[in-house]
Amino acid sequence: MELSNIGEFGLIHAIQKLSFQSSPDTMIGIGDDAAVLKIAPATLLLATTDMLIEGVHFDLTYTDFYSLGWKSAAVNLSDIAAMGGKPRFCLTSLAIPAHIPVEAVKDYYQGFSSLVRAHKTILVGGDTCSSKDGLVISVTVLGEAKKRMVVPRSGAKQGDRIFVTGTLGDSGAGLELLKSGVRGRESGVRSQKSEIRSKDFNSALRAPHSALINRHLRPVPRVEWGRQIALSGCASSMIDVSDGLSSDLFHLCEESGVGAVLLSDALPLSKSLMKSADYLNKPPLHYALSGGEDYELLFTVPLSRMKRLKALPIPITEIGMITTGYEMFLMNAVGRKTALQPTGYTHFKRTRNCAKRLT
Ligand code: ADP
Ligand code: MG
Repeated sequence: MELSNIGEFGLIHAIQKLSFQSSPDTMIGIGDDAAVLKIAPATLLLATTDMLIEGVHFDLTYTDFYSLGWKSAAVNLSDIAAMGGKPRFCLTSLAIPAHIPVEAVKDYYQGFSSLVRAHKTILVGGDTCSSKDGLVISVTVLGEAKKRMVVPRSGAKQGDRIFVTGTLGDSGAGLELLKSGVRGRESGVRSQKSEIRSKDFNSALRAPHSALINRHLRPVPRVEWGRQIALSGCASSMIDVSDGLSSDLFHLCEESGVGAVLLSDALPLSKSLMKSADYLNKPPLHYALSGGEDYELLFTVPLSRMKRLKALPIPITEIGMITTGYEMFLMNAVGRKTALQPTGYTHFKRTRNCAKRLT
């Protein structure tokens, strides 16, 4: 059978079913943002790993090495954030084509370490080798959490409200701007803000374009927010938005055995996305639902715990409700519902759709 027949998530399910040995200390194994492992009576170890492959996850014609280092740390820290944990240690492995200069690798580590250091996370090892075809990056982050303080993907129940931090779709729009030829500043830039170079659009778009590109190249993992959500005890489930809202909500529903209704008018959109979407000829909603790599936190809260949630000093928006059944719907302002398919990023092919999930 070809990989394209089952797709990335079909393959992960197949791996899961190969029934590797589990142990009573494996609190959560394959299927969540990070594995949760009991290493002492009250202490849980969180472990997550992610790869970034040149030509698949990034393109060296539009990302600089500092940003690449930053982002490879961010995507892993975000998985620890999605469990409500505290990142502690990391390892990073690189397979490097011979033409890449030493300075570029140093820039990569500057970007990487500026973000992990900000989260008091220590680089303790990795691996280095040559690559014949493209740069390959693998990062592992180990974190910790107190027992009963991790928030899994699997706890959502009917009636829970769905929330998301920050704004959605910015990174996906930033990526399309980059693909369309809009650029940040030259490679190697070390400041957080990218500066836009292009004459093709009116100068009023410079700032919004720049903000979207910056969100794509240097995403900010919501580690502190994830911990606050977990410590408050308000969330029944949580996942980070890495593949795109519709796909990550699908993963959360699948692990929880529930469905969902999303309110299209409620999705939080940044001013930058509203201003730049026209230039890209797509509605902002497209990016909010299908654009990946925002690394915001998507979580559910039972009505009984809403007071605890409201006390948190975090920018959150209520965007829908968990339902029974397995389907997802999008509801507009006048109450019209349409089926919502997971349309975010997936390797090999689109993920299985909701209908198939019932079989
Ligand atoms: P995320 O997007 O949050 O990083 P993924 O979709 O990459 O999560 O992975 C989902 C789950 O599947 C995670 O628990 C991950 O550890 C597990 N997983 C992914 N690929 C493999 C693999 N090749 N072998 C074992 N587990 C895997
Ligand atoms: Mg994740």
